Amino acid sequence: MEKLITLPYPDNGLEPVISAQTISFHHGKHLQTYVNNLNNALPNSGLENLPLTEIVKQSTGAIFNNAGQTLNHNLYFLQFKSPTENNSPQGKIASLIDTQYGNFDQFKKQFTQQSTTLFGSGWVWLSLTKDNKLEISQEPNAQNPITRGNTPLLTIDIWEHAYYLDYQNKRAEYINNFWKIINWDVINSRIA
Ligand code: MN
Repeated sequence: MEKLITLPYPDNGLEPVISAQTISFHHGKHLQTYVNNLNNALPNSGLENLPLTEIVKQSTGAIFNNAGQTLNHNLYFLQFKSPTENNSPQGKIASLIDTQYGNFDQFKKQFTQQSTTLFGSGWVWLSLTKDNKLEISQEPNAQNPITRGNTPLLTIDIWEHAYYLDYQNKRAEYINNFWKIINWDVINSRIA
């Protein structure tokens, strides 16, 4: 049985980047529904005793969709902290970004470009390949680069429910503000 994650901040803790209303619907309703649907589908599937990451890797159809969305949202919500003036990557992730993209601004540009151009519902991910290379990818619907053996590090939810109450059609503004609430310590903790 999966459980709805507890957020490490209050519903209004990400304001003004993401409103309390969005958090309350997105975490309390959307994510809760994925968790409920997953728990309803798991019994007798042969996957019910596996950790969530393994369920995502081994499932298809409705179980994959709901397990994928549960994992994706867990990683999304847990990577945030209250917005601060100076919020730039530190430590391991900072050196990986500098090595591969030259500097943080170049990386941000590429990640932003993938996020603004993703068609339909889905996610943009920064993940680490088995050869320890960073990879930015557009993933449709419930997909996660973990299914290709990558380690997911950072993600932006591009489903409209993630930003519509706060930004309506202004997706670019949501993406631009997203950087203000990233907890880079959490991203570093995801690098094995
Ligand atoms: Mn979502």
